[in-house]
Amino acid sequence: MFKALLLDLDDTLIKSSQLYEKALHFASDYIADKYAMDKEMFFQVALEKDTLVRRNFPTVHTRHSRILVFRNALDEMEIKYDLSSLPDAEDIYWNYFRQNIEVYDGVLETLAVLKKHKIKTAIVSDGGLSLRIRKTQQAGLLPFIDEIFASEEVIFEKPFSAIFTLTLNRLGVEGNEAIMLGNNYKNDIRGAQLVGIRAGLFDPKKDGNVEGQDGTIVADFVIHEFSEILKEFGIKK
Ligand SMILES: [Mg+2]
Repeated sequence: MFKALLLDLDDTLIKSSQLYEKALHFASDYIADKYAMDKEMFFQVALEKDTLVRRNFPTVHTRHSRILVFRNALDEMEIKYDLSSLPDAEDIYWNYFRQNIEVYDGVLETLAVLKKHKIKTAIVSDGGLSLRIRKTQQAGLLPFIDEIFASEEVIFEKPFSAIFTLTLNRLGVEGNEAIMLGNNYKNDIRGAQLVGIRAGLFDPKKDGNVEGQDGTIVADFVIHEFSEILKEFGIKK
């Protein structure tokens, strides 16, 4: 009866949150080296700016901008810097991220089984489309999924319904024919439920990052291993 699986990307398919800080460290070190600053001090400034950018741009994909993090951090240091250092640092950040991506156990195998059973799959993720595709590719998941949709395409991030309705339209399925899986109660679970999609929480025993619970959101199901999603489609492991 369910024909499609909608998947969040970060902390659902790939272990992202633990990698963000490492990538920030790596790119901050590059900037600190270049302008002869103390590495740990500059990293702390960058970390603070990272939090600020996320807070200052809620609901739009600017929230994910790393170039603004480096600009704000360098501005605070009051040193004269080459503008080219900004995109350089951003590239270094995302290259580090992509080179160190780890996929959760069982994801590849499970997506392969879903494909065999002709279940349509789409990644539904906040941020820019280019980076979503690159992350998916680097994680080795591109051959296993049918589509990728990014909030950039609809302006507003999850839980706003536009990205979910775009996905349903493009996959050619109704809300009640789809299942959403994510790690964020507010964005993934509530967002999907608002358009009639059954929504489950991914809460792995290791390296999980469940977030966004405001005390009122109830997931339709919770899984602790990725392969458990097969049960929702009536597929035996
Ligand atoms: Mg996520």
